[in-house]
Amino acid sequence: MKLKGFLLVLSGPSGVGKNTLMNAVFPNIPNLHYSISATTRPPRSGETHGVDYYFLSDQEFDEMIENDQFLEWAHFCGHRYGTPKFFVEEKIKQGKAVIMDVDIQGAIQIREKVNDAVLVFLLPPTWDELKNRLIKRGKDPIESINQRLERSFDELKYINEYDYFIINDQLDKAAERLTMIINAEWCRVERADLSAFENLDKGVR
Ligand code: ADP
Ligand code: 5GP
Repeated sequence: MKLKGFLLVLSGPSGVGKNTLMNAVFPNIPNLHYSISATTRPPRSGETHGVDYYFLSDQEFDEMIENDQFLEWAHFCGHRYGTPKFFVEEKIKQGKAVIMDVDIQGAIQIREKVNDAVLVFLLPPTWDELKNRLIKRGKDPIESINQRLERSFDELKYINEYDYFIINDQLDKAAERLTMIINAEWCRVERADLSAFENLDKGVR
């Protein structure tokens, strides 16, 4: 049966494990694609342009805004981040699901523009564990870690804007839960083309 594609927004504090979780579910779910964001933040060690992000200059980011090339964009801890429109629109048209990692401001913009988007919030088991993960990742300076933790407290106030929550304690359990959410979303009547069932009662009634 032909299905309508959809957008899945994954938000949660920096360091909670959004990228780790997405990587864990990709092998389980066909037709799921990752939307690579654009950012003006410099790459962390090990990050690659066109894989982790499109790392843009301020001028390049401005041009994308002027040319209406973002589905949403926002300021976060001194840098700008945005979702390029083209990739998402193409994949949805092809009946695929697209997963994107955006902050709360981005999630609210998506909610306003895309009424059937699915919003998932990822929580750490404890704040201490979140701090440990940010430190253990070892890719942000301590000021940036503290700024991100502060920001996380603010973001949590908006959790009611989301459809689902997942606690990322054990990674395999969190991956199972995200997989369940995505599979359930594919089962929604609104995503199905049920035209083949329209005249089933002909000759029976
Ligand atoms: P985010 O994408 O949310 O910023 P990452 O995926 O980069 O976070 O994860 C941050 C750190 O936490 C990484 O070092 C990762 O290996 C670790 N991590 C992710 N999930 C778990 C988990 N369930 N248990 C322990 N460590 C985790
Ligand atoms: P980081 O710098 O840790 O990779 O990401 C910082 C924050 O930016 C995270 O909360 C992440 O979800 C958010 N983010 C990443 N890409 C986008 C995007 O395209 N749009 C928005 N609004 N936020 C994003």
